[in-house]
Amino acid sequence: MGILFTKRCVLCGEMLPAIGTGKAMLCPDCAAEVRQRYRCTEAIRIPGAADAAAALYYTGKVRNAMQRFKFQHKQQYAAWFAAQMLPLLAERLDTWRPDLVTYMPIGFLRLHERGYNQAELLAKAVAEPFTLPCRATLRKRAFTPKQSTQKDAVARQKNAERALLPLKSAEVRGKLVVLVDDIITTGATAAAAVKLLRDMGAARVYVLAAARTPGK
Ligand SMILES: [Zn+2]
Repeated sequence: MGILFTKRCVLCGEMLPAIGTGKAMLCPDCAAEVRQRYRCTEAIRIPGAADAAAALYYTGKVRNAMQRFKFQHKQQYAAWFAAQMLPLLAERLDTWRPDLVTYMPIGFLRLHERGYNQAELLAKAVAEPFTLPCRATLRKRAFTPKQSTQKDAVARQKNAERALLPLKSAEVRGKLVVLVDDIITTGATAAAAVKLLRDMGAARVYVLAAARTPGK
């Protein structure tokens, strides 16, 4: 599946002037704002993960763009979000030495209604430049309650763990796996996926996210 070129700024929707190779996805103002305000500078800790990193803070224009990416069929935004994640993976390639890139699954009904899994689009776009295989390894159990309806951290963790199942075809035994997700909020879902991948035999799991909620 190809990634479509967008002629509007991903963050503010302004039309972009056709300059250079025409590959710019942000207007100059938003590009500056990303550098000043949205670039995630904190380390992330996901229980069970050998390391974790996120490219951006999930707030303001980034949050709005992520919502459009997920809920308004802007799958072409995957190219921009993935471009923010690529340097993180490049920096860590020698230490992570990944064998496989995988991604957080979404439910079957949601996939059917949306037509794509945003985490899968991101995973494919970050794996490709490094010639890493990108495969599904997990699936979402149908009809699991939403994380946001859980009363506390313990309940969220239990619910997140119950929501995920291994894919029968998954082959992660002994592998160094990068798990790609779109947003990290509490980290409960990412932690549950990491735990499951470890239980499935992955030697190490690294988490790479497009964005994380600030101040967690
Ligand atoms: Zn803009």
